[in-house]
Amino acid sequence: SYQKTDKLKADHLPSVLYNIYKRPMLINQGYKQWLFDHEGRRYLDLFAGIVTVSVGHCHPKVVGALQEQIQTLWHCTNIYRHPKLYEYVEQLTSKLPGDLKVVYLVNSGSEANDLASILAKAYTGNLDVVSLQSSYHGCSYGLMGLTGTQSYRMKLNIPAGYYHTMLPDPYRGIWGGCRDSLSQVPGACSCPGDCVTADKYVHQLSELLENSVPKGRLAALFAESIQGVNGTVQFPKGYLKKAHQLVKKYGGLYIADEVQTGFGRTGDAFWGFQNHGVMPDIVTMAKGIGNGFPMAAVVTTKEIAAAHAGTAYVNTFGGNPMATSVGKAVLDVIEEEQLQQNCKVVGAYFVEQLMQLQKIHPIIGDVRGKGLMLGLEFVVPGTKDPLSVADVNIIFEDMKDMGVLIGRGGRFGNVLRIKPPMCINKQDVDFAISVLDQAIKNYTS
Ligand code: PMP
Repeated sequence: SYQKTDKLKADHLPSVLYNIYKRPMLINQGYKQWLFDHEGRRYLDLFAGIVTVSVGHCHPKVVGALQEQIQTLWHCTNIYRHPKLYEYVEQLTSKLPGDLKVVYLVNSGSEANDLASILAKAYTGNLDVVSLQSSYHGCSYGLMGLTGTQSYRMKLNIPAGYYHTMLPDPYRGIWGGCRDSLSQVPGACSCPGDCVTADKYVHQLSELLENSVPKGRLAALFAESIQGVNGTVQFPKGYLKKAHQLVKKYGGLYIADEVQTGFGRTGDAFWGFQNHGVMPDIVTMAKGIGNGFPMAAVVTTKEIAAAHAGTAYVNTFGGNPMATSVGKAVLDVIEEEQLQQNCKVVGAYFVEQLMQLQKIHPIIGDVRGKGLMLGLEFVVPGTKDPLSVADVNIIFEDMKDMGVLIGRGGRFGNVLRIKPPMCINKQDVDFAISVLDQAIKNYTS
């Protein structure tokens, strides 16, 4: 029963592990875009286990691939060759452009980013890494420095050599105003070429590289192509391309964290960085890669991977037969069911509907995103002041009670994050919109 888990949680789980809902439920079952609780209640899942269930809960093809593998071989480590690993790396790299052809298979996004950071340092011979303010790249000890969000850092001797550049946030950034022309939100940036605000943020990065990072020590810039955890922030057009050029000039690599934006979620491209016309040196991926099965990857060039040679390297679980079978099935389903295209079409429809709601509810300050990676920011009506977390929670909890699970985040905790399994359809959007509309009405009335 729920009460029993209350006590077990208090007795045996760390207090830092929090439940997102105040009036939670036990999730017992999932199918495609639906989750079911201990009382058989059904929820539309718009958060996909934090942007992870890419092709749908318990997708039959993925379940089938895993079942077949479980009966054949679970594990042997990659010190032996097993066929699934080879099939998978061939298929995965066929999805990556340019020379990004060497795959390290690991088990989580944090692990992938840790390894990417090691590779960048080994290849460049440099020590310092830059990421964006308000970013989240993981919470291992090493990554507490990389993650640009204060609340994830403990009072420890956080590893040195991490710098954070200003988040190019069109809605809340100090040079905000110019919306992302890459966004599918209509009425975006009208700059004829790259957005003028992009240049201002790039200039700020150049000041950091020139004046703060010690000369000749830059190993890499880490960036997502849409910042996920802190509110689905899209960058002004041209920012990533120019930031990349600049970092290269200072001897560093560009590492694309595709943990949230990869695998077709942004609709127009399989990888988020492709929307920005940039070619990373290293790409990290996790979450959607395994539809919930714990797996992740770092993909880079032969030249960069060669810098690792001569060091002993073992990853016990990385690329094991179960993970690679699941990974292959996920890629097959994305293709067979045209889920990238679905993200584009259903995502555009979702944005349209959210913008209709924005017209009648001044509490909605901003709607943004691309494909099925969307965000909606609540403000105090008539201002840009973030709505308080307590007030956002009223809407958030109410939506759950009406059958819709959604993400929450942003620097001020006032952003609803919509990142569902990529198989949702327009009817699901209509249902979600009616629930959101009702929850806002309940809150404001
Ligand atoms: N990078 C990004 C962009 C993420 O959103 C996350 C997880 N929220 C991570 C890295 C870390 O992934 P994991 O939780 O699998 O370690």
